[in-house]
Amino acid sequence: MNLVLAHRVDAVLFDVDDTLIDYLAARRRGIVDFVAELGVSVDEAVMYAEWLRLEELYYDRFLAGELDWIGQRRARLRDLLRWLGAAEPADDAESDHWFARIWAGCARAIELYPDVEPCLTRLADGSVSTGVVTNNVPQMTIVKLAAAGLDQRFPVVISVSDEIRGKPDPRIFLAGCAALGVPPERTMYVGDRLGTDAVGARDAGMIGVWLDRTNGAGRSGSGPVELPPGVIRIGSLGEL
Ligand SMILES: [Mg+2]
Repeated sequence: MNLVLAHRVDAVLFDVDDTLIDYLAARRRGIVDFVAELGVSVDEAVMYAEWLRLEELYYDRFLAGELDWIGQRRARLRDLLRWLGAAEPADDAESDHWFARIWAGCARAIELYPDVEPCLTRLADGSVSTGVVTNNVPQMTIVKLAAAGLDQRFPVVISVSDEIRGKPDPRIFLAGCAALGVPPERTMYVGDRLGTDAVGARDAGMIGVWLDRTNGAGRSGSGPVELPPGVIRIGSLGEL
């Protein structure tokens, strides 16, 4: 907390998934409903863990430029269906159609965390600029923010694109600061991923804040994590 008080903060940039929206719950709904429609019987928690593992694997490859965005979706779905022992789509068009069903179920389930609105209201009262910097592609960012009722809320929204590489590349964080017109050292970045978000922001010269909603349990229940120097940990946006 001393670190926060030692800094003048003129702007706060937020991550989106699992920081503003409960994306863990939403995408679980989407994939669980899809697998149920396939008629496959599987342990829901084990299947969801595999789905998250595949997402991490292939989305990271997309962010690294090894796969395009649609390619990482097809690969994730193909691998999950093989893991389930289920029939695979006949072609790319069918794969995209199936993924669209998964995504539709996910989008319907998107909800804001309850601490978001009070936090944004409080920041607005303090004349602090706000925005989002996300590793989503623009079309997904727009849909997610709209589903959460936040589409008119942020003057600055930075997504990954052909020109902007994803976090933890410092340039995406700095693009957010530049768009707000606030120097990085006076800009706080808040995200649920310690390395990608908080350490990445710190390394870009910002105030990196790790939103640890697991209350020290770790994202996969792996237990307490040692906090890197220069990073602030909060348990909810109410602490911001
Ligand atoms: Mg996140």
